[in-house]
Amino acid sequence: MKLSANLAPRLLLTGGAGYIGSHTAVTLLEAGCEVTVIDNLSNSSAKSLEAVQKITGRKVSFHQVDLRDTALVEAVLRDEHIDAVVHLAGLKAVGESCEHPLRYYDVNVVGSLHLLQAMKAANVRKLVFSSSATVYGDPKFLPYTEAHPTHPTSPYGQTKRQIEVMLQDLSDSQAGWHFSVLRYFNPVGAHPSGQLGEDPRGIPNNLMPYLAQVAVGKRASLTIHGDDYDTADGTGVRDYLHVCDLADGHWAALQHLIDRASPEFSRCDYFNLGSGVGHSVKDMLHAFERACGKPLPVRVGPRRPGDLPAFWADANHARNELQWQPVRDLDNMCSSTWQWQQAHPNGFND
Ligand code: NAD
Ligand code: UDP
Repeated sequence: MKLSANLAPRLLLTGGAGYIGSHTAVTLLEAGCEVTVIDNLSNSSAKSLEAVQKITGRKVSFHQVDLRDTALVEAVLRDEHIDAVVHLAGLKAVGESCEHPLRYYDVNVVGSLHLLQAMKAANVRKLVFSSSATVYGDPKFLPYTEAHPTHPTSPYGQTKRQIEVMLQDLSDSQAGWHFSVLRYFNPVGAHPSGQLGEDPRGIPNNLMPYLAQVAVGKRASLTIHGDDYDTADGTGVRDYLHVCDLADGHWAALQHLIDRASPEFSRCDYFNLGSGVGHSVKDMLHAFERACGKPLPVRVGPRRPGDLPAFWADANHARNELQWQPVRDLDNMCSSTWQWQQAHPNGFND
């Protein structure tokens, strides 16, 4: 993707050492942006940023800072002359959020509040936010459009929605704030270099990293969480998109935001970032078997509490407004994951 005329923004990525953040850093550096990362490394390793620098041949300025440390975040915003923020830092495990809701409100909601306070103090008024399709909840219709009612069904989803509301209220309160809320569907896959990918701690909650660990021999078999849903093959359906397409979506959103920003008005735009196509657990299993060239052991277990049977995105708003759409297919998602997993069976510790 090319850099628009007079656009070489200095960007702060919160959570930039994480899975989506590190892939986004690659895209932004390759587009010519200057990238500063703050991350407390609670769910990541600084080695991901070493890989980012190796892939791009560009420097990332890294600060090990907690989002909730307003004074330090403000100092980074000022010292690095930041133009805009991409806010990815946060906790993301639905199950854990049900067990420890206060932890999620603290890191996600309070953390975002502190970030916005620091931005206000440093006069940085543009932000792209990592939201999630989980804000929609039980589908009233499919595919979800951005106008679908929001009824999150977990504390994690609630925190994402509350941050959205905070951004909306702030943009309504005063001219000059510009927000782009990106509601991600299911990001999977890895960078084509094989040097960057998802490195979950402990037993993976999500389907794709679990499949990858079964394929590499770290887990005995995949448990399909229910095969009696009202879907074509009975297994759950989701909208998977390649993490590099998602990274491109951030750059598209940033350009849209920066090109249109004005001190005269505010905006808070919402975009679904998904492929617009639903795939079942069995579709994913078979695609992964193609990628790794062998059948994978599977058992069928009960439904996972809280799982929705099926959802996918209407991503036309992003296509029309941001000129963004995913270009990488399911086989690419699986083969890039497999390439990363084979080269790094123990993640960044290899
Ligand atoms: P990740 O855990 O790999 O990255 C999040 C990063 O934030 C980590 O590097 C972590 O160390 C950092 N972090 C956490 N708390 C922090 C704090 N208090 N201060 C500073 N840094 C902190 O997760 P990811 O998959 O890359 O997700 C990035 C964002 O996208 C998250 O906000 C997540 O909720 C959102 N999201 C992810 C998915 C998904 O399926 N991966 C889907 C929808 C939305
Ligand atoms: N899933 C599964 N086995 C696993 C992990 C996930 O069958 O070990 C299913 C899950 O029930 C859902 C789909 O795979 O239907 C995607 O799950 P994931 O946790 O990756 O995404 P989310 O449910 O958060 O959209």
